[in-house]
Amino acid sequence: MPQNIDVLVSEVGPRDGLQSIKRTMPTKAKLDWIQALAAAGLQEIEVGSFVSPRLLPQMADCDELVKESNKIKNLTVLALVPNLKGAERAIAAGARKLTMPPSASRTHGLNNIGKTPEEAIDEVKRVCALRDTLPVKQRPEVEVGISTAFGCTLEGPVSEDWVIEMAGLLAKAGADSIGLSDTSGYANPNQIKRMFRRLRNEIGPEKMAGAHLHNTRGQGLANVVAALEEEVTTFDSSLGGLGGCPYAPGATGNIVTEDLVFMLEAMGLRTGIDIEALIAAREVLLHGLPEEMIYGSLPEVGLPKGFTYAKARGPM
Ligand code: ZN
Repeated sequence: MPQNIDVLVSEVGPRDGLQSIKRTMPTKAKLDWIQALAAAGLQEIEVGSFVSPRLLPQMADCDELVKESNKIKNLTVLALVPNLKGAERAIAAGARKLTMPPSASRTHGLNNIGKTPEEAIDEVKRVCALRDTLPVKQRPEVEVGISTAFGCTLEGPVSEDWVIEMAGLLAKAGADSIGLSDTSGYANPNQIKRMFRRLRNEIGPEKMAGAHLHNTRGQGLANVVAALEEEVTTFDSSLGGLGGCPYAPGATGNIVTEDLVFMLEAMGLRTGIDIEALIAAREVLLHGLPEEMIYGSLPEVGLPKGFTYAKARGPM
């Protein structure tokens, strides 16, 4: 966590948002968007996924995105890697932080990355072994976000005991940090509190990664507040809630970065992000993806009269 902020907002639009829509954004437009996000003060951006370009042609330029984004000051460039092959490509491109998405749901795992949960844990172990062959200074951080941790569109409820057991196994496999992902937008605030508390007890606060939340059923920001109460300090979100679901018209994707930052700052939690610059970044996004549906309440109406950003505070 950088010293000057209380909560790290990790932008996932260029990966989660873009992989959920049909069109492919040109590389130059993606870079303009990433630049605009970083200029608004975002300190971590997931720029793409090292998945097979045959499966997701939208992500075929991930190598170039990592290389170019690495030139931006004060930015942690994150890349999603589904497997060892993806990790090799990511490391070759210079990625300093990798994120892996093993699924707690067997059916979702097989559909999404072609692996059962057990096989996905083994793959994390292989990626961590690869990391450990590198000189210490060149080792990327390996973060894991357990997908479908709060329920699965294919299987329905997912065993909470299994999700927590899986987190323990992933920690043993060598993951640097582990978070929980509400891939399907099923989570409610009570479940979020319960699961993050159990996660912290299982792996310890130093290995806790953040919450990856979707706003599919409008629970996104309520879930953020619940997670804050359990000392979660990193949240994934996407500008304009880019993403959605092709099978649910009007359903939003990730929680909206603009609304999230506004809520946190209004609550007195520093994000280091300029909300007006974020709103301006929507134009950059739409320039690269004309007429794409994007969301957000704050951008519709603007900041409240007299709004002030969270101020530097003493030790909490
Ligand atoms: Zn997601």
